[in-house]
Formats: sequence, structure tokens, C-alpha cells
Amino acid sequence: MKYVIVSGGVISGIGKGVLASSTGMLLKTLGLKCFVLDDGGETDLDLGNYERYLGITLSKDHNITTGKIYSHVISRERKGDYLGKTVQIVPHLTNAIQSWIERVSRIPVDDTGLEPDVCIIELGGTVGDIESAPFVEALRQFQFKVGRENFALIHVSLVPVIHGEQKTKPTQAAIKDLRSLGLIPDMIACRCTEELSAATIDKIAMFCHVGPEQVVNVHDVNSTYHVPLLLLKQRMIDYLHTRLNLESVPLTSEDK
Ligand code: ADP
Repeated sequence: MKYVIVSGGVISGIGKGVLASSTGMLLKTLGLKCFVLDDGGETDLDLGNYERYLGITLSKDHNITTGKIYSHVISRERKGDYLGKTVQIVPHLTNAIQSWIERVSRIPVDDTGLEPDVCIIELGGTVGDIESAPFVEALRQFQFKVGRENFALIHVSLVPVIHGEQKTKPTQAAIKDLRSLGLIPDMIACRCTEELSAATIDKIAMFCHVGPEQVVNVHDVNSTYHVPLLLLKQRMIDYLHTRLNLESVPLTSEDK
């Protein structure tokens, strides 16, 4: 199983859900079975978006919330599963999050009835928020559990345009926060009202310690259904293909 995490920095509501769905849609064009797990938020409204983009059917378990995880851990504690030990965020809650992800990622979500190949996890909120901290820590541990070739992270950030100038500082700060929590960005998807200039891309690459090919331009588009094309043009899928050592499955005539 390959895991692609989509996290967000700077502010919420900049298009993590759209990016997660679009990435899944592109991975599907490789013939891979993908689905999205909505992690950490308190709503499952996004699930509808994923279903529409990916043509899959998701259950309520595909949406993990803080409340669900706490309630799961508390009921295990009441049953004595933790042998009377003090229940803590680390390891009890973080272990429960990782097991939940592993369990849910294997549930078939389309009519083939087969296990998916790729699980995309949208991390709710903004990295650095108190609310998402246990999820971030669980994913930090998870990257070692599943191995580098099975875990990639896309961080969605914002590049504001102030007096006509594209500002990279919020992205630099967001990536610093992400790295300080032990997560490494494989791609930095930058939302901006306009196309990023080559100078902006180079600056983000340099200050965020990634290659320019890892900085993805996600400017405003008229319809969010154009986002997959935008990502395709920037060879995002080629990058993920190599990074995750993905084996393309030949498309069946039905998929073509
Ligand atoms: P998040 O998951 O970060 O809260 P969403 O994916 O729900 O963000 O997107 C927030 C809003 O921004 C939605 O209304 C969505 O349609 C819009 N949006 C996302 N990406 C783009 C884009 N590239 N161009 C224009 N609007 C976008």
C-alpha cells in the first residue's frame, strides 16, 4: 500500500481537498486504485468531493475525527485492553490513529471489490494547530512504519501577492513548522491567485530545501476540475511515480 499525505500550511481553506482529489484522479489514470481518507477534520463533507472526482464510494470510517479516535481509545481502555496503564496521546492515541489508517486503507471502495493500491490522506486543519497535533505525530511515526518508498507528503501552502509581488515567506515558515514536527515535504503545492514566476519557484525551492521540480504551481482556475490538468502539466505524477516506485497497471479497455 502506498500512502500520499496532503497537509496544509499558512491558512486553512486553500484547496487541500481539491488537491487530494486531483492527485487521486491522476493516479487513477496510471491504472491504480486510489482512495482518499479524510483525517482529523470534524466534518465529512469532503467525502462527496472525493467520490465525485474518483468515482468511488466511501464509508463513514474513511473520515477519522478526533472525537472518533478518542471514543475508540476510551472504549478500549474501559474494556481493559491497556491493562490498566495510563492512557496517553503517545502511544495510545497515535497507535490507534495508525491502526485505523491501516485498517481503512484496505477496504475496497469500487465495484472491483479489490484492495486499493494507493491511500491518499487529507490531514485536516493546518500543521501546527493543537487540534491536528496527534495526527501529525501519528503520521511522523507512520512514515517509518511503512517505509520511505510507501509514504509521500504534499504540503499545500499559500503564496500571497502583495503590491504585485509574490511573497514566499509564509510558505518558508509553513515548511519550517512541518519539518520541525518531523515531516518532510516531497512536493510543495502553492496556491496563488496567479501563476508562480520562475523566480518565486526557485526561491521556495532554495529556502525550503527542495528541488524546483518539487514546487507545484496551483493558481486560481475557473473550475476546480481544471486542477488535475494543472498538476499533470507540471509532471506531478511523474514525480510521484518515481518517488513511490509505482507500478502502473495497464488500463483496461473499460477505463480508456
Ligand atoms: P481545504 O481542503 O484546504 O479546506 P478546499 O479543497 O475545500 O480547501 O478548497 C477551498 C475552496 O477553494 C473551495 O471553494 C475550492 O473550490 C476552492 N479552490 C481550491 N483550489 C482552487 C483553485 N486552484 N482555483 C480556484 N479555486 C480553488
